[in-house]
Amino acid sequence: MRVLVVEDEQLIARGLREALEAEGYAVDVALDGDDGLWRGLENDYDAIILDLMLPGKNGYVVCRELRAAGVATPIMMLTAKDGEFDQAEGLDTGADDYMTKPFSLTVLLARVRALIRRGPQTRPPVLVAGDLRLDPAERTCTRGDVPIELTPREFALLRYLMHRVGEPISKQDLLDHVWSDGFLDTNVIQVYIGYLRRKVDEPFDRHAIETVRGFGYRVRADGG
Ligand code: CA
Repeated sequence: MRVLVVEDEQLIARGLREALEAEGYAVDVALDGDDGLWRGLENDYDAIILDLMLPGKNGYVVCRELRAAGVATPIMMLTAKDGEFDQAEGLDTGADDYMTKPFSLTVLLARVRALIRRGPQTRPPVLVAGDLRLDPAERTCTRGDVPIELTPREFALLRYLMHRVGEPISKQDLLDHVWSDGFLDTNVIQVYIGYLRRKVDEPFDRHAIETVRGFGYRVRADGG
């Protein structure tokens, strides 16, 4: 088990190294973002502990670039104080967890163990059609800044449509993928499309969900 610690405060870096080594992990330490990114790309780690405020590339950038390069290693973000770190933004860059300094080493180690146990996570991508945004990992849907509450079935239907944004999708295809429980009547789709339109389009005077006559539906790439 090998862990990368990216932390510019030497005392904290040393403390983490000692604590992790005492647990039996092999530990590499990088003291700035550029070195952290380089090591993260070169080596295969079981977890990365990544400080947010770093000389060179900051933690957000390192995390985003690692993810962009296809590195799926679990990442624990560290931050100096509450408020410095926007949890949503941190998780958006692909971090799996975060902790605020000063932290308890015991708690940190427990959470790192949990991350390693879970293994590499490929976070499903956020789906976007103009200002309509669906985040499968967070299970949230927004139009601009406005959150939209969807039932699980509505969410699954919109997710499937947005997963292939701009593409006409047949009713049968939707039935097969969103109603996997052997449901046979495609009329149910029309009903649910109606529910979705009343939530994501009508209140905003938009038309993202288009009917493709005699075939199915499409979500416009521009969000309608
Ligand atoms: Ca720092």
